[in-house]
Formats: sequence, structure tokens, C-alpha cells
Amino acid sequence: MKTAIGWTVVANGQLIDGTGAPAVRDGAVVIRDGKITFAGPAVRVPEVPPDARRIDARGGTIMPGLVEAHFHPTYFNVAALEDLDIKYPVEFVTLLAASNARLALECGYTAARSGGSLFNIDVWLKKGIENDMHPGPRLAASGREICGVGGLMDWNPDYRKIGMEGLVLLVNGPDEARSAVRKLVKDGVEWVKTYPTGDAAAPDTNDHHTLCMTFEEMHAVVTTAHNHKLKVTGHCRATEGIKNALKAGYDTIEHGTFIDDEGLDLLLERDVPCVPALQFEQASVVRGPEVGLPQKVIDAHQETLEVGAESARRILRAGGRLGMGGDYGFAWNPHGDYAKELTFFVQYVGFTPLEVIKCATKFGAEIMGRGNEFGTLEAGKLADILVVDGDVIADISVLEDRSRFIAVMQGGVVKAGRLAGTKN
Ligand SMILES: [Zn+2]
Repeated sequence: MKTAIGWTVVANGQLIDGTGAPAVRDGAVVIRDGKITFAGPAVRVPEVPPDARRIDARGGTIMPGLVEAHFHPTYFNVAALEDLDIKYPVEFVTLLAASNARLALECGYTAARSGGSLFNIDVWLKKGIENDMHPGPRLAASGREICGVGGLMDWNPDYRKIGMEGLVLLVNGPDEARSAVRKLVKDGVEWVKTYPTGDAAAPDTNDHHTLCMTFEEMHAVVTTAHNHKLKVTGHCRATEGIKNALKAGYDTIEHGTFIDDEGLDLLLERDVPCVPALQFEQASVVRGPEVGLPQKVIDAHQETLEVGAESARRILRAGGRLGMGGDYGFAWNPHGDYAKELTFFVQYVGFTPLEVIKCATKFGAEIMGRGNEFGTLEAGKLADILVVDGDVIADISVLEDRSRFIAVMQGGVVKAGRLAGTKN
């Protein structure tokens, strides 16, 4: 991805650097050739050439670009499990994914980790974004997902004779798990997404206390993936599934809903990040009736919501790392609503805005394995910056309103916001 050439100064706003440090009331950021050379109090800004571009934060907020840590670029208006795979042909889903990526960037998300994608679309979407062919977050790609036969993602009955290879590779035993990872190695993914457990969405045969993969299958996934330098994550709701994932060597945990004390110790021992994705549960409960979700599914989402919120609080208070990502792309939780996750964590879960922003920036970048490149506003990092016309500490929900964005910058280039397409 190309970076800006020359100097830019962003000033006249509170500076939130993403490290969790208190905001600097009157802060400024200096950028040279796409990288930050200074971030701190405006009074200490070093001298810059007179022709430097100047961006006025209008008394608002200067902060790192957001990182969506559980992004499904190919999900679109999903109302039933079947919609995840067989609703549209790959040609159309590719266009949808590109449009979702553009939207995410416009929503202030300068980076995103895919939580699974139809076919191999996110791998190629990432190439398009990296080559400046299409706007979008800096991506980490996952491609197709892995699930045990009969598990959460194996929902189509065999009599339909529908190949499920578009979204999920179904495995029986460690040998098939290894072979699935090897396919993904060839596809060029960076993350292997698996389904160790079920979910509230499937209360009959794969509810959120059900295991969908064996420890042996998960261990085979990890050893094969790590051998090829890929990372592994998994949809982990059930207590035993979380512990299996941590013992098998998973690099992150998605959801971590029913984590117990032993699971928390295992998580902290290796400092494994967790991405709770909780606003989705709230949306499922609140909007479930209007979109026709069965009552037992709604009840199960309510349980996930309450227990998941407590688990997220325990992990953060114990010193663990959480990423902010939200499984957006469902009919009741559409793309574009990404920042609702942040508001939810302040209002419902009880985190401070600075804690939530640290999760959504620094920890997000670390989850992507790129914490040394972006995620905080510090000298030497890429200038992936969000300039907001508003005080996000007083009201985090300002981040839900794209019209408040003065600039969304990647590598010092203004890609979205009011100043997009202008020179000064
Ligand atoms: Zn997901």
C-alpha cells in the first residue's frame, strides 16, 4: 500500500495514542512520508517545513485507526446459516466483499483480521487492497474455515447434495484436519479459522456447550499450521472447547464465552488474545423477534451475552488482551455497524473508553501480528490515523457516525472522511 510523500501535521484535538495512556488535551501528530515522527503535546511539536499539510481536528480527537479483529468480508445480510454459503455465486460475493471492505475503511477501520471468508476471496481482496486497486482495511486473510463433520458449520443435509467447500472444509479425524490446513497453506491464508464448539444459533444439535472438533483434530491443525507459519484461531464458546484450543496451542480465541478459571489461567499463561464479539449477541436478542429467530435461539443468545460479558470483564481485569470485532454481516447486525461494538463494551460491559480504544487499536494490531507497524500513535509507526470531530472519551458512540470523521488515514494518505479527495 502506497504511503504519503512529504510532511503532514494533525493538530487541534485531544490525542489518544492507543496505548491506554490518558489523552493529551491539546495534542498533535507529525507525519513524514507516511510514518509518524512525533505524537504528543502540541507545544512540543518539532519544526516542520512551511509547506507541510495541516489537518485541523477542530477541537475533536486524534487517535489510531480502528482494527476490526473479527471481520467477515463475505457475509452479507445473513438471516439463516444457509445464507453464509449458498445464497449467492462467488462472482457476486466477491463484489460484496470489496464493497464491505470499502465501507469498513469509511467507518474508520484502517485494518481488519478476517474471521473466515467464502472461497478464497479475502486472500485476493487483501492483494487488491495492498496494491491500491481497491480501498479497504489492511487485511489479514483466513479463507475457508475448518469444522468437524456434523458440527456447527455442517448444516446442509446430505440429501441436498450440496458441496460445502465454498465456506468450510469438513474434517473427520486428525488426518483430514491436516489435509484441510494444507489446502489453506496453498490458498495463501495467514490465519486458519476453526470451529471447536457450537453456538446459540444451533440449539438442537450444536448448541454453545457442544464440541464440534476433537482435541486431536485441533492439535493436528495447530502443528500443521505452525509448521507453515500460519496462525490458528477458533470459534470457542463451550468451556472444554476453550481449554482444548488453548492446550492445542491456538494463537487467539474467538468469543471465549464460557471460560472457567483453568481456561483463564491457560489464556494468561501464553498471553493469548480473545475476541469476544458481543454486540452481535445483543443485536440477536433485541432484533431476533423481528427477523424471525426462534425463541430458544434468542434465549441462548441472551445466555451467551450475559456470560460472555462477564468473561470479557474477567479477562481484561486479569491483564489479558481483548480484540474488538463483531461478526458483522448478519441481517440484524449489518456491515457498517462495526463501532457499535465499542459503544457496547463501554455501556453494557463496563469498560472505560480508553480501555475499549486500546483493545480496538493496539491489541487489534497485535492480534494481526503487526503491532510494531501500526495500532498506536508513536514515532516510527505507520500513520494510520482517525481524526474525529468530537470527544470520543465523553461519548464513544461518536465513532459510529461516519459524518464526524475529518480524516481516515492509512500511511498518511487521507482515504476517507470529510477531507478525502482534497489536498488541504
Ligand atoms: Zn465469526
